Amino acid sequence: MFKRILVAVDGSPHSRAALEVARGLGEALGAELWVVHAYAPTSDLLGYTDFAQRVSRRKSQGQKLLEELRGSLGESPLPVTEELIEGPGAEAILKVAETRAVDLIVMGTRGLGALGDMVLGSVSRKVTQGAGCPVMLARAPEAS
Ligand code: ATP
Ligand code: MG
Repeated sequence: MFKRILVAVDGSPHSRAALEVARGLGEALGAELWVVHAYAPTSDLLGYTDFAQRVSRRKSQGQKLLEELRGSLGESPLPVTEELIEGPGAEAILKVAETRAVDLIVMGTRGLGALGDMVLGSVSRKVTQGAGCPVMLARAPEAS
């Protein structure tokens, strides 16, 4: 069970907790791991004369996050693939889940958003509602 695990990361403490859970599960189960980050959609940049530069800045910030998280995994026998994709986040995660035929999605309860009262963020809510496989939500106890 659970041979292809997707973990969604936005850089938040909760998503780092999700990565730890996904890594532990992946190692225990001999699974493959997809670490997915969606950068913000670029349609708001249309019309800027330096559109291409702005897009590539957005992408490279996402790439940096994936590299940093990859480094944080250290030595691991787990096969890890990073996937950087244009958002919106929930749509991007669901799309990768489908195209890679993953059998588990792990993500944080909340992310970088600041609406402290909500139990779930909009990305975790949409993915939980739309996924065709089980979704596991992780929470960093020290974060709100
Ligand atoms: P909101 O975005 O609705 O203001 P929030 O930021 O607190 O709320 P979410 O965005 O739903 O909460 O984040 C929940 C989890 O979804 C994160 O911990 C992370 O696992 C995943 N996630 C959110 N945004 C992205 C993204 N851009 N790329 C990949 N994963 C993401
Ligand atoms: Mg968010």
